[in-house]
Amino acid sequence: MEDCIFCKIASGLIPSQKVFEDENVFAFRDIQPMAPTHILIIPKVHHANLTAMDKADQTLGGTLLHMANIIAQQENLDNDGYRIAINCGPWGGQVVQHVHLHLLGGRELAGELG
Ligand code: AMP
Repeated sequence: MEDCIFCKIASGLIPSQKVFEDENVFAFRDIQPMAPTHILIIPKVHHANLTAMDKADQTLGGTLLHMANIIAQQENLDNDGYRIAINCGPWGGQVVQHVHLHLLGGRELAGELG
């Protein structure tokens, strides 16, 4: 999608600290990290948010979760633990309108889910 910042990051038009990339998924470090490790995992195809994904996108959803698991292990977060979050819509705190998983770790996490 033309005006989407995460589409531009996934296609390399905007630079990022890339952590992982394959044909379907792109992962990069958050520019304003909320934890020592804060990685965003996105599909290359544009979906504005989780609501915009439907039954046909089930496999993609599973792939994103699987990649979060693999990246968490690569970042050595699996031993102490970590959090995966998806913000959806204004009340969910979503700012960038391209579906993304936050992978947070490297410290003990508190907050509303803690
Ligand atoms: P959300 O509030 O769930 O939409 O999260 C959007 C996230 O994208 C925030 O944590 C931002 O810090 C992050 N972000 C925005 N622009 C960039 C960028 N150019 N590179 C890396 N992370 C970004």
